[in-house]
This record gives sequence, C-alpha cells and structure tokens, in this order.
Amino acid sequence: MNIFDKLVNQARRRSPWLFHLNAGGCNGCDIELVTCLTPRYDVEQLGIRLEGSPRHADILCVSGPVTRNTKAALEAIYAQMPEPKVVVALGSCPATCNVFAGSPVMAGPLERLVPVDVYVPGCPPRPEAIIEGLVQAAQILAQGRNGSTTQSEQVDQGRES
Ligand code: SF4
Repeated sequence: MNIFDKLVNQARRRSPWLFHLNAGGCNGCDIELVTCLTPRYDVEQLGIRLEGSPRHADILCVSGPVTRNTKAALEAIYAQMPEPKVVVALGSCPATCNVFAGSPVMAGPLERLVPVDVYVPGCPPRPEAIIEGLVQAAQILAQGRNGSTTQSEQVDQGRES
C-alpha cells in the first residue's frame, strides 16, 4: 500500500460516507435516518454524510426486510462498494424480516445475503440508537473489517473444511 492509499484510507475511516438502501421496508426507519441528518441530530458533525453513489460509500445502511424484488439491487450495491466496507442493519426488518417474516416474497433477513456488522434494533429505532450504530460502524472501519460472513458463506466454508 503506497502513501496515497494510506491517506485515502485514513480519510475514509475518519469521515465515513453512508449509502442508504430501503430493501422493502415501510419507510418508518428511513424517516428516522433522515432525522439524523437534520440540524437537531446532525451526524455530519461526526464526519458521517449521506452519499448518492455506492462506489463512494464506506457504510451500507439497509432498512427493510429484503424482498425478492430488492435482492438483486442489494447485492449489486454491495459489490460496487470499495473495501473496506461495513453493513448496518437498520431496524428489526433487516435483522429478522419482522412482521414480514414467512411471506413468500421475502429473500431476507439481510445476513443471508451480505455480511452484517452492526444491528440497530427497533421498529423503528430512535435517532440516538441509529447514531450509536453509525458510530460503531465507523469504529469497525477504523479497526479494519471484522471478518463477519453471510450465512451462505458460512455454509460454503463448512463444506470446504
Ligand atoms: S423495522 Fe418497523 S419501521 Fe423499520 S421498515 Fe420495518 S416495519 Fe418499518
């Protein structure tokens, strides 16, 4: 790694950019996330800002249970994000599918599809809990990825061993 890469990595860890994806939720979590960007909570004070392109983002924040319709978009967005990257499951939906569990249109929960680093529980979570989760995500970025794996990767690793 050259000096330029080191500088870029340090900047990314101190000021992580966030890409948000609603993977089929009711928008309740999205409204709480937007609240974190308002002057009252102002996550930009912590260097965290919302980014429109996954190619420039460090943190993927997913709300919603991940439906079959949103699965391909989720996987494409995750693949487009540069390493190191951290995934935050925003609310109960990505963690468990919540009230949507058992529906035939569900592809989630999220950890089946991409590695999840931080869970922010709640339906929806309060802005304070979301900010705490984003700070945890920034700390994981600063320490390097924690090596978590998806359920399907764990199955693959079990087959290989
Ligand atoms: S966790 Fe609750 S508020 Fe958030 S998207 Fe799911 S149902 Fe809506």
